[in-house]
Amino acid sequence: MNERVPKGCTLKAHFKEISLSTRKRLDLVDITEQVQSFVDECKIESGICLINSPHSTTAIIVNENESGLKEDILRKVQEEFFQGTDWQHDRVDNNAVAHLGSTFLGHSRMFPIRKGRLERGPWQNIFFLELDGPRSRRVLLEVIGV
Ligand code: ZN
Repeated sequence: MNERVPKGCTLKAHFKEISLSTRKRLDLVDITEQVQSFVDECKIESGICLINSPHSTTAIIVNENESGLKEDILRKVQEEFFQGTDWQHDRVDNNAVAHLGSTFLGHSRMFPIRKGRLERGPWQNIFFLELDGPRSRRVLLEVIGV
């Protein structure tokens, strides 16, 4: 018996797929508004929102949408995951650094939902991070709650 769900409440689950296109090998796409409006549509009082990228060369990250900081993030990613180190996977399809970035930065993030709102800080924007673009990509949203 799940005692976290109050009596008389039914746990609800909502799913949405977002499609997007990236423009460069390394790119940041702010998806905050799409996530926020989906959570608003779901009318969940209390729950969680999972933001998941079903790709092995992308990541979901959270931070401020400020143009200088976005450049800094992309520069840091490039510094941490740099090409030309004789990565084994480059023998397959020459994108080892993109897989490494995805591995260590993570393919998903989760936020709480309280009183029907996505509970995030004022400078916490949600970004899709492309590591092997440009490409067409998907982001999967799952909202679960009461
Ligand atoms: Zn690969």
